[in-house]
Amino acid sequence: MAGDGEGRCRRCGDGELQEQTETLSVELPRSAVTASVAVPARRCAACDAVQVDGELRDRVRLATCCELADAGVDTGEALRHMRKALGLRAAELARLLDLTPETISHWETGRAAPNRAAFIAVCAMVQDALDGRSTTRDRLARLAQHQGYPHALAVKLR
Ligand SMILES: [Zn+2]
Repeated sequence: MAGDGEGRCRRCGDGELQEQTETLSVELPRSAVTASVAVPARRCAACDAVQVDGELRDRVRLATCCELADAGVDTGEALRHMRKALGLRAAELARLLDLTPETISHWETGRAAPNRAAFIAVCAMVQDALDGRSTTRDRLARLAQHQGYPHALAVKLR
């Protein structure tokens, strides 16, 4: 069905890959939350390895974060999951949110509950990423530069 390389299992190099729907699950044990999503995938008939397109995996990660946000899972564990999905180091996130890395660490390890405004800012960055833009992150980055602002603005209707 598929061409050379594409139709062979990457793990055993042998089995034929079959298109099917797989359920991927993300578990947040400390928050007692499991998020599941059905995705198109290829399963090896020989070794049972499941292959999911890398780009799709990234989208699943971001979509899971948005689901957590919508469900109100505002735990440090969820925050950490979102930060990872955004590819941000704790120090980078701290800079964007005008916080110390220690604060982020305290939230993520459950020593303190995440601040709601900070949590929503991270949710907005995740939603942006899922929608293919970086509006919130760009705004936070600009604020983090502490460079002031222009006094005449040309407004674009969008
Ligand atoms: Zn295989």
